[in-house]
Amino acid sequence: MDDLSYMRLALDQAQLAYDQDEVPVGAVLVDKNGVLLASAYNQVISLHDPSAHAEVQVMRKASEQLQNYRLVDTTLYVSLEPCMMCYGAMVHARIKRLVYATPEPKAGVVTSQLKVPSLNFLNHKISVDCGPMGDESRALLQQFFAKKRLNKKS
Ligand SMILES: [Zn+2]
Repeated sequence: MDDLSYMRLALDQAQLAYDQDEVPVGAVLVDKNGVLLASAYNQVISLHDPSAHAEVQVMRKASEQLQNYRLVDTTLYVSLEPCMMCYGAMVHARIKRLVYATPEPKAGVVTSQLKVPSLNFLNHKISVDCGPMGDESRALLQQFFAKKRLNKKS
């Protein structure tokens, strides 16, 4: 499978978050042979856990499964540009490659608010790509926040 197909799976996860009234962000983690290790979505509200972003959730699942806190030679696909917490966790996990669908202008730290991948003090570099399914991910997020605003008014 290619980047587009994996990102489609991440988007499916984002849809699950949407259906549970969570900000729709989804992620999948894939090993170097293209094997899907785990899928997850944002669950901060339902789990009462501020760290339960899609990226952290998918790494938790895969680490548990592999019985290893390092996730070397893996690619993490996520439907939105990661925040500071998630990017930090990815460095700790030694994720090899990150692919995200669309920028997060308010809190993204790859290109939006910070450019963390270019910081020199980090002892692990993640290669980063942005793009596949960007329109679909943005549309889902916009639909979610439009629905929220509508509910607030009524
Ligand atoms: Zn995050």
